[in-house]
Amino acid sequence: DLAHGRILYLEDVNRSFDGFKAINGLSLDIAPGELRCIIGPNGAGKTTMMDIITGKTRPDAGQVFFGSTINLLRHSEAEIAQLGIGRKFQKPTVFEPLSVFENLELALQGSRSVPSALWHKLSGAQRTRLAEVLELIRLQDEWQRPAGLLSHGQKQWLEIGMLLVQDPKLLLLDEPVAGMTDQETERTAELFLSLKGRHSLMVVEHDMSFIARIAETVTVLCDGAVLAQGTLDQVQADERVIEVYLGR
Ligand code: ADP
Repeated sequence: DLAHGRILYLEDVNRSFDGFKAINGLSLDIAPGELRCIIGPNGAGKTTMMDIITGKTRPDAGQVFFGSTINLLRHSEAEIAQLGIGRKFQKPTVFEPLSVFENLELALQGSRSVPSALWHKLSGAQRTRLAEVLELIRLQDEWQRPAGLLSHGQKQWLEIGMLLVQDPKLLLLDEPVAGMTDQETERTAELFLSLKGRHSLMVVEHDMSFIARIAETVTVLCDGAVLAQGTLDQVQADERVIEVYLGR
């Protein structure tokens, strides 16, 4: 039972593209409820790693387990989302003509079409969760607003909310604070800190002050493998980490 006590477990994962090893012996695990930050230079393999976890890309070799029993390599991308792994890409993809509330309703139904009178089809538990998420993402005063009229930061939060209504066990977030104002970044830090515990989070970011605000453990990827791991202070003091950031 290799994955005992872990929500996510990667062992010796490899993936090449045309002979180039984008992921090269990557091993990593995430504890339940943990908020893990992933950093690394461009081309380190961060996106490919998330593609492998979510089933978008298949590794050539290695193991990927979710919890102690679920072998993710046996599941499709759609099944992996159903199992409770949510992914947020950098660019928000909310439905702009629909209201904040309608966006969350659709996400709750796992639907991509727009049925009418959706509210009546929701269970009591689903309605409660929707209200809870609106508050978490601080859009309760904007619930009727068309998503297209929200600020950049608010759109990002709405998209996170669209994942949260499904109550994922693990959330993968790609550069969540890119393009945000300082105030939006701070609010995002507060949101993530309030999510950990209930959810496990894996956050890929370049914004070091944001990482300093939220991180317990930071994993540094380089050349498709883990170069260093520890607190932000520890990895920032690591000679090998300094070299890859300054030396290339
Ligand atoms: P990061 O997200 O850390 O910048 P990526 O995972 O995007 O790194 O890329 C790692 C390496 O793999 C890069 O050198 C990239 O060019 C290469 N790569 C990623 N996806 C593909 C692909 N589909 N085809 C060819 N090369 C790829």
